[in-house]
Amino acid sequence: MHVLVLGAGQLARMMSLAGAPLNIKISAYDVGSQNIVHPLTQTVIGHGLDSAIETADVITAEFEHIPHDILAICEQSGKFLPSSEAIKAGGDRRIEKGLLDDAGVRNAKYYVINNREDFDRAIEHVGIPMVLKSALGGYDGKGQWRLKDPAQADSIWAEMAECIATTETQAIVAEEFVPFNREVSLVGARAKDGSVAVYPLAENVHTDGVLTLSTAIADTELQQQAKQMFTAVANKLNYVGVLALEFFDVDGTLLVNEIAPRVHNSGHWTQQGAETCQFENHLRAVCGLPLGSTKLIRSTSMINILGEDSLPQAVLEMDGCHVHWYGKEKRAGRKMGHINVCGDYNGELQRKLCALADSLDKDAFPAVHEFAANFSE
Ligand code: AMP
Repeated sequence: MHVLVLGAGQLARMMSLAGAPLNIKISAYDVGSQNIVHPLTQTVIGHGLDSAIETADVITAEFEHIPHDILAICEQSGKFLPSSEAIKAGGDRRIEKGLLDDAGVRNAKYYVINNREDFDRAIEHVGIPMVLKSALGGYDGKGQWRLKDPAQADSIWAEMAECIATTETQAIVAEEFVPFNREVSLVGARAKDGSVAVYPLAENVHTDGVLTLSTAIADTELQQQAKQMFTAVANKLNYVGVLALEFFDVDGTLLVNEIAPRVHNSGHWTQQGAETCQFENHLRAVCGLPLGSTKLIRSTSMINILGEDSLPQAVLEMDGCHVHWYGKEKRAGRKMGHINVCGDYNGELQRKLCALADSLDKDAFPAVHEFAANFSE
């Protein structure tokens, strides 16, 4: 099997690593350079999309901000999975909100803003405090504003108007501020026959809008709610592949924050913590193979490595610690890799996270230090 991935970043790279044992070969389309590259070495192996589409058995995507003309060409080939509808829902908050409503899953109250009058209506409908998000192009908390006081409305509007003016199709989605206790996500796969397999929920810590720590958790009641919402969204899209749903947990009730129609950062822990990792299950689904077991095999956390290109020796020396570099050039705040840390049981994992805090830099790994500080209290 030969799978062409739209996007040539770390997710295509990890799909390639997971596909090799199954004889699934991955090539990656770099949307920026329009080259076909090897996802591990980044060596250019072809130019342009047409011949790559022809030689691929299956086409999939590692990100949702893909130009619509490219999606259309891929969809026309009849080889593209999940679907352009699913990718568009992940890349446009207006479509995403409509999908969540259509699927009947709880999400924050919202209002779409195209002009100043809409903003005033949004304030009335959604209320203050509110979170404002660009409909297109926003990720990792970028393109967002917080309106906490009516006095801020004019200055926030000036910035949002500038954002709306950047492209004809841009808008802002105003959302009620959700007073959540924590953020969790559910990663799962849906196969061509409609069968669904979900991983245990992950509890996620974000720092400045970016995921920093993700830990698989066991919570039967929340897991049930999350699986029901996952299945509703995946069935609505007739989805094939791995899909992630991010939730706010408000006193034991889940609201969907957003969806990602792809393998997801909060599912990286599955490489060491689950029977079959999310990358393999995505490939299994899109290649029409049976889904692998999503069972948790050991307590696992994932720590993102942001803007760092080296780690203390102690990390590799630690039993149950697995480092995954993405082969990228160092840039401030860039996702450079991640660490999966495992324990035979939760207490052991917690002790290892505390031990890691002793060797990892506090500024570079704030979530691990925060965990250790709370643990020792
Ligand atoms: P997003 O890009 O939508 O995932 O937002 C980035 C982060 O902002 C989320 O992980 C939350 O921590 C926070 N956030 C987003 N939407 C809301 C909301 N409606 N209420 C409160 N916090 C939010």
